[in-house]
Amino acid sequence: MTTLLHSATAVDARGETPDAWILLDGDTIAVTGSGAERPVADETLDLSGRWIAPGFLDLHAHGGGGEDYATGDLATGLAAHRRHGTTRTVVSLVSEPIEVLGQQLARIADLAADDPRVLGSHLEGPFLAESRRGAHAAEMLRAPDDATIDRLIAAARGTLRQVTIAPELPGGLDAVRRFADAGVVVAIGHTEADAATARAAFDAGATLLTHAFNAMPGIHHRAGGPVAAALDDERVNLELVLDGLHVEQSVAAIAFAAAPGRIALISDAMAAAGAADGTYRLGTLDVTVRSGIAMVAGTETIAGSTLTLDTALILAIDALGLSRSAAVAALTATPARILGLADRFGLLAPGFAADIVVLDADDAVESVWANGVIAPSVVE
Ligand SMILES: [Zn+2]
Repeated sequence: MTTLLHSATAVDARGETPDAWILLDGDTIAVTGSGAERPVADETLDLSGRWIAPGFLDLHAHGGGGEDYATGDLATGLAAHRRHGTTRTVVSLVSEPIEVLGQQLARIADLAADDPRVLGSHLEGPFLAESRRGAHAAEMLRAPDDATIDRLIAAARGTLRQVTIAPELPGGLDAVRRFADAGVVVAIGHTEADAATARAAFDAGATLLTHAFNAMPGIHHRAGGPVAAALDDERVNLELVLDGLHVEQSVAAIAFAAAPGRIALISDAMAAAGAADGTYRLGTLDVTVRSGIAMVAGTETIAGSTLTLDTALILAIDALGLSRSAAVAALTATPARILGLADRFGLLAPGFAADIVVLDADDAVESVWANGVIAPSVVE
């Protein structure tokens, strides 16, 4: 089954192509081009006046559509985000007892084997600083040790994509090395690390900063902390939650300017993304969502977001003034490169996954193909 999308403006990390066409063949982009000379396909769609972009790849999400990915119906949650352009997801787990995390990792491994749109898991805990725990339960936090690390890696059966570690913990730098040696992308986050400790973690193999600026020391002019250390290091990428709440607009703009091509926009979404306000669970904690703002119940601590990545794209273009190509890259090519998947995801190019987001002239998501399958319309 082949599908030809034509007469749209294609946009990806390489730039914009007017009057573009893309031929999808099953789960792969077969051919791309521009102009009136186009291949014949089983199905042809005229997308005049629209943008087409690669599907968004979310490195960090806990849920959506009312469902918590760790404990609830993953398919419903993923479908909620897919309506907003996210075609591939790394499922993030908050801190739990090791046995529970092992069960959750095994379940995600099963789901990833059945559904290629699940890229694997992200262990956001439990190796985190208690003072920067955010929405992780204090009693679940611990320092890393080799046996625990090996147990978690084994439970995921090759699907553990990412781990977040506070490198200042006892054994923290050894843990960075051990996970990195196992092929896991190591992020530092939920941390009190100063710049020197962050640099030591990067030298040990960490390549990512988990939700930059949130749950870590900020940038002080005489103490740059982990954010300045990451911005300053070409080996390191930064996750950013661009929802107008987690990071002030001018600060987000500084990050993009200081680290072009190294910022990955993530949702860090919890179950209420694409769902109603109310009370939800995140791990063992109750989370109250009011006006779309998620907080640990009874506190002022932000507990993830209710962001979908289409909103992050619009904020990046309209509020930060990024070029459309740079904004799209932060949702596509950059996260794909971070995961080592840049040969299959993140570009509108032959051989890449048939993951396509169609945006109308106002950048609202109109339709989405994920792994070659069109998702239900977002028009509500
Ligand atoms: Zn998170």
